[in-house]
Amino acid sequence: MTVAADLFALQETDHALDAAVARLEEVESQLGESEELTSARNWLEAASENVRRLKSIQSDLEFEADDVRAKVGTVEARLYSGEVTDSRELSDLDADLKSLKKNLQTREDAFLASLEQTEEGEAVASQAQSILSEIEARWQAAQSHLVAEKAGLEPEIERLRAIRGEQSGAADRASLSLYDLLRDRRDGSAVATVERGMCQGCRITLPRNIIQKARNPAALVQCVSCERILVFV
Ligand SMILES: [Zn+2]
Repeated sequence: MTVAADLFALQETDHALDAAVARLEEVESQLGESEELTSARNWLEAASENVRRLKSIQSDLEFEADDVRAKVGTVEARLYSGEVTDSRELSDLDADLKSLKKNLQTREDAFLASLEQTEEGEAVASQAQSILSEIEARWQAAQSHLVAEKAGLEPEIERLRAIRGEQSGAADRASLSLYDLLRDRRDGSAVATVERGMCQGCRITLPRNIIQKARNPAALVQCVSCERILVFV
């Protein structure tokens, strides 16, 4: 014969089982790459890509400056070689040289500005790298905790299921159906304790005759308000 105390014990197993299953689901949902980690990784990738782009611009500007510098050298060499005596040609060479030097200055300025941009880009990439490393270390530690917790929860759930199997196997069919029905209807709790004359499931003060009936350990008496099975513990 199933008594309220047996169903109360079954409920305690069910509550422990519900909590363990819910926690396992939560743990499993947290296993794997986190959004924080993915976005830190994406940030580093974008910052590194930016550095590559800036370096390529820098190297183009350097090449262009070198090219103009070589031309300046050539024109200067010719101008000061003493081989050119024609005043028209000398004046043309001088004008060329001025224009080339101006051009060189512009290119050197652009190169220096690009050098500065590359340095700034590298600082951002290095910041992104250190933030990623921090997040990765924290994530890895959290993951190993979760893996260990999962490894503990799985056998615990098996153990509780076995206990539940024994407890529900020992209960009679009618009591078990009532229990399942109420558990379903009352948010997982089919049995309520009685304390100071009150149903602890819905907090109403129970009629005296119901309390008297519920005191009989062999009877399954339900609360008049929430219908939960009443038990004295
Ligand atoms: Zn109640």
